[in-house]
Amino acid sequence: MTFEFTERLRALPPYLFKELDWVRDEVRAKGMDIIDLGVGDPDRPTPAHIIAALETAAGDQVNHKYPTYSGMNAFLDTVVRWYQRRHGVALNGARQVCSLIGSKEGIANFPLAFVNPGDVVLVPEPGYPVYNSGTLFAGGRPYFLPLLAKNGFRPDFKAVSEDIMARAKIIWVNYPNNPTGASADLNFYGELVEWAKKWQIIVASDAAYSEISWSDKPHPSLLEVPGALEVAVEFHSLSKTYNMTGWRLGWAAGNETLIQGLGLIKSNIDSGVFQAVQMAGIAALEGNQAPVWAMGRLYRERREVLAKGLEAAGLEIFPSEATFYVWVRLPAGLKSVDFASRLMHEAGIVVIPGNGFGPSGEGYVRFALVQEVPRLREAASRLAKLKF
Ligand SMILES: *Cc1c(COP(=O)(O)O)cnc(C)c1O
Repeated sequence: MTFEFTERLRALPPYLFKELDWVRDEVRAKGMDIIDLGVGDPDRPTPAHIIAALETAAGDQVNHKYPTYSGMNAFLDTVVRWYQRRHGVALNGARQVCSLIGSKEGIANFPLAFVNPGDVVLVPEPGYPVYNSGTLFAGGRPYFLPLLAKNGFRPDFKAVSEDIMARAKIIWVNYPNNPTGASADLNFYGELVEWAKKWQIIVASDAAYSEISWSDKPHPSLLEVPGALEVAVEFHSLSKTYNMTGWRLGWAAGNETLIQGLGLIKSNIDSGVFQAVQMAGIAALEGNQAPVWAMGRLYRERREVLAKGLEAAGLEIFPSEATFYVWVRLPAGLKSVDFASRLMHEAGIVVIPGNGFGPSGEGYVRFALVQEVPRLREAASRLAKLKF
């Protein structure tokens, strides 16, 4: 028997880094001490009070049933209060919020509700790969918006042609940004909303890193823009904020029809989030936020430690006050993959080549600050011995 993958699976971009995986395995087999700054997964544990809330809720039989599709009222209310407190935005929990099994799930499913085959979706690159794959699974056509250093890694959406805009349904944005660490301000969001209204397209904002910041000003939400609820939906995650990547909890909030469409898709695919996990999410969002601020300060310190080594190696860093990524520009002519391979061979440091996030990431690499300071100090000293 031979089975063939569907066209939608075959349409996915190829995995670019098989050779790098071999290099890593080879270096590891040699017994070299590897410092893995590759994956974007926080290294620290979930705060104890959140774990305790899960333990209590898991023992309660009320939570052993199917949850409601869109989320427990208590969780939706918590999100409403969070938006009010954090952003001064008023939402209706029943109509404008939906729980997600991690925000990746929502991001991947959302186009199924609003993209017909052949419709265009504006996708930033370099970027999180799921905007692209979700579009392809819905039969849509991704139109890539390059994020360039000269624009502060923000898309020049106004430059998209009328021809493309006539077929566009969604624009994705992601700030604070993975992989570049760039932030957005209300001015940017305001222009985006105004432009989206003119073209009648949906603004979908991925805010997974909104709380990973050590700037004086907290990162704004797209929904703070007056009138944003007419065109926008925002995807949130507890994963990065509370070191809860394995727990699978997030939410979507915004325009009622957009939430309704996403909910209809989801009710045919999944059956909601385990209530005990939602209870833990409530504890996270309503509880003491000191651990979140402490993580922000820690990422800042880690960044400074690593930056010393990068600078000593003659590499240029994009300045950032958010996320746990360091986006590094390589000297002209040096390819991302070649650099990553050399770094692994000569320093035992694992990073992600920038072109893995899209063609405009070529000539960059991403370091994730997911090791403790002493390990990063070791990484910095190994880097400082290299010259590029
Ligand atoms: C980690 C990440 C997510 C997804 O997180 P979940 O664990 O699925 O909530 C979404 N967007 C970006 C840019 C991320 O880096």
